[in-house]
Amino acid sequence: MDPEEFRRAGHAVVDWIADYWSTLDARPVTSQDPPGTVAAALPAGPPTDGEPVEAVLADLDTVIAPGLTHWQHPGFFGYFPANTSGPSVLGDLVSAGLGVQGMLWATGPACTELETRMLDWLAGLLGLPERFHSSGRGGGVIQDSASSATLVATLAALHRASGGRWRDVGVDRRYRAYTSTQGHSSIEKAARIAGLGDDGVRPIEVDPETLALRPAALRAAIEADLAAGEVPTIVVATIGTTSTAAVDPLPEIGAICAEYGVWLHVDAAYAGAAAVCPELRWSHAGVEYADSYCFDPHKWLLTGFDCDAFWVADAAELVEALTVLPEYLRNAATESGAVIDYRDWQVPLGRRFRALKLWFVLRWYGVEGLRAHIRSGVALAAQLANRIRADDRFEMAAPHPFSLVCFRLRAGDEPSAALLARVNATGRVYLTHTRVGGRYTLRLAVGSPQTRAEHIDGAWELLRTTADSLLAEETPTR
Ligand SMILES: *Cc1c(COP(=O)(O)O)cnc(C)c1O
Repeated sequence: MDPEEFRRAGHAVVDWIADYWSTLDARPVTSQDPPGTVAAALPAGPPTDGEPVEAVLADLDTVIAPGLTHWQHPGFFGYFPANTSGPSVLGDLVSAGLGVQGMLWATGPACTELETRMLDWLAGLLGLPERFHSSGRGGGVIQDSASSATLVATLAALHRASGGRWRDVGVDRRYRAYTSTQGHSSIEKAARIAGLGDDGVRPIEVDPETLALRPAALRAAIEADLAAGEVPTIVVATIGTTSTAAVDPLPEIGAICAEYGVWLHVDAAYAGAAAVCPELRWSHAGVEYADSYCFDPHKWLLTGFDCDAFWVADAAELVEALTVLPEYLRNAATESGAVIDYRDWQVPLGRRFRALKLWFVLRWYGVEGLRAHIRSGVALAAQLANRIRADDRFEMAAPHPFSLVCFRLRAGDEPSAALLARVNATGRVYLTHTRVGGRYTLRLAVGSPQTRAEHIDGAWELLRTTADSLLAEETPTR
């Protein structure tokens, strides 16, 4: 494909994406086809002779699009909605066109320096502590996901707790990680990969009302482990849990970590974006205690997957934990000590030029544009919560500090699960569920850039009328 052919095909692809976005509302949010439908529509092998891009675009329409869950649909309220945007896609397109590998400063100086600057911009935008800024000992890096951020934080914490010994001899069974019972599954996965084992993770109980970690229980667990000769290594606190968006009390947790010398990693994957709004920064009180912190612009900041922003207060600890320098990567810039080599800040060696999409996004929307997106999500969630509270067949299952609303039918687990299944089957909305205090709970996460007040009204109307018919069936008439 020469540059002129690329120009022509590229315009057609951009047109296809623009058409996709402008027709999303009319599509069912989830695929209505049984498993195997897409696979059956694909040939068993590749074509012998090449085909035009138009042929692929045609199959995108007939084979792929009908088999998708449309994560950017205005009625997509599951998990946390995708947050890509025009500028994000364009930045990613440039990154793809450049094909730069940013593993070392020397393999793409602009790739490294733009990333450092974007993470400094973001740290300022969220009001994060000065010690995460690259002008001091700390700094930021883009990871693919919050799961990777938790893994590298765990490795750096092990490095610290073992006095560097784990690098030479691996881990023994004494190192312990702590997170609330509401902590994300990636914490357990990171502990498993790092060699702590599933038993190495201490689940700490939460307050039944707020679902936030109980500091007294954390202290008791750390003290019990110390008494047993174990090594408290890392605490992962969450700002905005996946299940209900609960906020762990960082000021108390941070003070405990400081007292016992335990690494504090703050996982703000979804709710970190809220800190772009000064009125929502209460959620980040105590973040100055963090040794590391991450959030996902791909979850709520108008950036396409994958983009996790991760900071450490002392980059040297992270680099010492992860660096391996073979002869073929040696170069004068690295040896000068004057540059950042991001390969030492992550698990893989190679890395894409992901800072470009952040640069496009931050410049297109500006600070106020990003704040408007967050505020719209928070306001729409509040609008829905008001409707739920005003209908006595429903109840809220947790507070809604951000854009996630957790609720259920008072009638119980079975009717609540049936309600979710029925509204999702219409193809007009997509919600997911969790359990709160053991009870089946519906989650409605606002955040898709296309979702507006009328979509929340529509979703509530659908929930309300579906509950009408469901509860009428449940009530014996004889
Ligand atoms: C979504 C989520 C994660 C995992 O995010 P990825 O970026 O997909 O790995 C981790 N922690 C929390 C609190 C989350 O909500």
